[in-house]
Amino acid sequence: MKRYHLPQLPYPYNALEPYISEEILRVHHQRHHQAYVNGANAALEKLEKHLKGEIQIDVRAVLRDLSFNYGGHILHSLYWRNMAPPGKGGGSPGGRIADAINNVFGSFQKFKELFSTAAKNVEGVGWTALGYDTLTEDLIIYQIEKHNVLQVAGVIPILIVDVFEHAYYLQYKNDRSSYVDNWWNIINWDDVEKRFNNALNKGREAFSIEILL
Ligand code: MN
Repeated sequence: MKRYHLPQLPYPYNALEPYISEEILRVHHQRHHQAYVNGANAALEKLEKHLKGEIQIDVRAVLRDLSFNYGGHILHSLYWRNMAPPGKGGGSPGGRIADAINNVFGSFQKFKELFSTAAKNVEGVGWTALGYDTLTEDLIIYQIEKHNVLQVAGVIPILIVDVFEHAYYLQYKNDRSSYVDNWWNIINWDDVEKRFNNALNKGREAFSIEILL
């Protein structure tokens, strides 16, 4: 089995200020994300030893650990890339992703309101995502609880926001709403558009089932 590693951030720790402080970004990347990488690798280690007959494990518990920690690793790796320093990030999307957002949600403003409401209302800890559904070939907004619950099969996430308290508490205390509102100033729309185009080009062949009328 392969092993995971912590990716470098594509910008310095202070690059997202004033919207996300240097302290938050450093702790979030170096401690929290690293912990998910370590947790996922530890689960793989257990599975390998179990397969070799060296240890007995609670398979259900280890697979749950793997789903949570590997999910955290994937989502954080995407979250960092989805953001860019103010000036480069923020504003509104262009190109095919802008057209798709308008087609599905009516307008960028309506999309923004729905996505923000979803993010502010994730129950407990989790994420909100904009994804490309390879089955319907539409965009879809969905909430993720923890790093792995409420995921939608067949959907490739292209824009996500972390609403675990560790993503904002040091700066915003319990005011998740202000954190989500400010996060729009550092969205890297070039990255989102690139992911959307990749999903359009490569994603539709991933599932060979029919679900639409
Ligand atoms: Mn996080």
